[in-house]
Amino acid sequence: MANTVISVANSVLNEMKNYYSASIQSTTPQGGVFLAKINGCTVTAYKSGKVMFQGANGENEAAKWVNSNTLKQTPKRKQTHSSNQAPSTSISSLAVIGSDEVGTGDYFGPMTVVASFVEPSQFELLKELGVKDSKALNDEQICEIAKNILHVVPYSLLVLHNEKYNEMQAKGYNLNKLKAVLHNKAIANLIQKLNGKHYDAILIDQFTPPASYYGYLKGTKEVIRDKVQFATKAEGLHLSVAVSSILARYAFLKQMDLLSEKVGMALPKGAGAKVDQVAAKLMKTKGIEAFKSFAKLHFANTDKAKNIAGI
Ligand code: MG
Repeated sequence: MANTVISVANSVLNEMKNYYSASIQSTTPQGGVFLAKINGCTVTAYKSGKVMFQGANGENEAAKWVNSNTLKQTPKRKQTHSSNQAPSTSISSLAVIGSDEVGTGDYFGPMTVVASFVEPSQFELLKELGVKDSKALNDEQICEIAKNILHVVPYSLLVLHNEKYNEMQAKGYNLNKLKAVLHNKAIANLIQKLNGKHYDAILIDQFTPPASYYGYLKGTKEVIRDKVQFATKAEGLHLSVAVSSILARYAFLKQMDLLSEKVGMALPKGAGAKVDQVAAKLMKTKGIEAFKSFAKLHFANTDKAKNIAGI
């Protein structure tokens, strides 16, 4: 019997438990977290993070949970058999729709998601315009580059404003579900905009295993699956993801400027101590109700700011 063993992080172990919840058996082996039987495959997860897949369909089932980058490093696995969701090594030279999100680690301001389409004929121009991994760029550089590429690359931008974000969080949408819904929507919008134009692949900057991604999209009207691939650090794999990351950051910065103007003080980025101080001041001057339209309330900053403000 074929056995496939993978190692996953704790967070993924939890997602797997959710994913297989309907197939989990009442008995769990020693040191085990759960044992599930599904599609002719037995899945046994251990506290150590090791997960064993036994049975005819074990390899396919395991492939749903393997990080795409890890797959790529595995020497010569049968691509057809393991997963069509891991990018092939040549993806960097293809015409690709890439997507990325920004603002999920910032207490103030919205979450922004961009999908953009980049063809090989544009590579040189985009590099000339300064497109690279956004983590290597400061905000000023990002704004400058973004203004230039806005007119060069077809893209779709979604801004999830704080009020709506808080509403969805309260409804039980966790961060990964929000991301999945917005990535899928941005990609669908862009495909419509491309109006039949050919693309080779869709590359999503991976934030959750593919199986979880599609799990979060259950109930969504239009789920894009065809040609979709996932990879962590996808900015380095194709320029379309780098472009999306830059445009999403640019949109986020513009929104932060607007919000800062609205509240009459500069809103800090991130989620550090400075953020707590400004949040406390805002809660006092604007009131908690109005505050919902500036910040992501489920962050720990909310309680810290309330403490500082004495609310
Ligand atoms: Mg990302």
